[in-house]
Amino acid sequence: MIGTGILKGMAVTARNFVGSYFVKERLITVQYPEERIPLPENYRNFPFLPYDGDDPQAGLRCVACKICEKECPPQCIYIIKSDDKKPDYMGKPQFYPAVFDIDISVCMSCQICVEVCPFEAIKMDKDFELSKRERFDALLLRKEQLSKSNDYYHRIHPVEAAAVDKNLADAAAAAEAKKKAAAEAAAKVAAAKAAATPAPPTTSASET
Ligand code: SF4
Ligand code: SF4
Repeated sequence: MIGTGILKGMAVTARNFVGSYFVKERLITVQYPEERIPLPENYRNFPFLPYDGDDPQAGLRCVACKICEKECPPQCIYIIKSDDKKPDYMGKPQFYPAVFDIDISVCMSCQICVEVCPFEAIKMDKDFELSKRERFDALLLRKEQLSKSNDYYHRIHPVEAAAVDKNLADAAAAAEAKKKAAAEAAAKVAAAKAAATPAPPTTSASET
């Protein structure tokens, strides 16, 4: 019958309207910004750069490899690699981004930069209150604005951040085990060489 769909829709609306006076879950609007609905784990907006420890620059995981810059579809990432190196989370000297900008007026939140990063160095933020009065520069986020602590990452994406921590800890443990095995192998080779080298002849008293 024509109009059945409309009647069904009106019935749902009426049920929720009356029901909302008795059951809070039926109230589907909230008094934002005083009241906020918690965002789901996989909500994403724009990227940020997680860092380990207390120092945003020393703890930055990014090694300025520029893969994300190349792969970003609208080309809104701009990176300049440093001239010097700093230790990464495994203590290995690595380059770091002297400049890392993202133009969030262009970013389309596709998350490709996150997918292609081999170092867990860029992740998606949930911050959406980013409106500005200025049209251009204010939406160009600099490295300092993009750097956010690993604790912050855990607060916004607890499940994902725990998995990333585990990956990094496993990689660090594997690198440490490899280093130890290489040192042991080198020590064995050195010991074998020392054993194979003939001892110098001793000088007897009659020869002197
Ligand atoms: S989310 Fe997509 S558009 Fe935005 S910076 Fe990353 S790759 Fe570029
Ligand atoms: S965020 Fe990742 S992919 Fe992008 S430059 Fe840094 S390390 Fe490379």
